[in-house]
Amino acid sequence: MSADCIFCKIVNNDIPSKKIYEDEDVIAFHDIRPIAPTHLLLVPKIHIDSLADCGQRHQALLGKMLLLAPRLASESGLKGFRTMINTGREGGQEVFHIHIHVFGGGETLPKV
Ligand code: 5GP
Ligand code: ZN
Repeated sequence: MSADCIFCKIVNNDIPSKKIYEDEDVIAFHDIRPIAPTHLLLVPKIHIDSLADCGQRHQALLGKMLLLAPRLASESGLKGFRTMINTGREGGQEVFHIHIHVFGGGETLPKV
């Protein structure tokens, strides 16, 4: 738990979120400013600043999060989806608690 971290507060139910999944390690909820008709965030319960701060000890957790993406996307009715992990300020990261974006729905996503 990091005192000023918005996602730690969501993990601890200190601030509300539209949660769609929770287990002992991970939660998933809807992004507050969706960039697609469905936009989910997969967040570990432990605080890790970013992907750049992960090491061998996080391998199982990262694998679990990645494998949750297709399951939650499918359960949300997505036929296809995009995953994204912004890393570092220059990588577009705004919330410094690692998370996987999962988004899709509506039109086919543009090529990146
Ligand atoms: P980043 O830019 O760090 O990869 O993504 C952070 C994401 O968190 C953004 O898409 C933003 O809309 C979302 N976000 C920021 N604050 C909140 C919040 O309080 N609740 C929810 N549900 N999403 C948030
Ligand atoms: Zn945190």
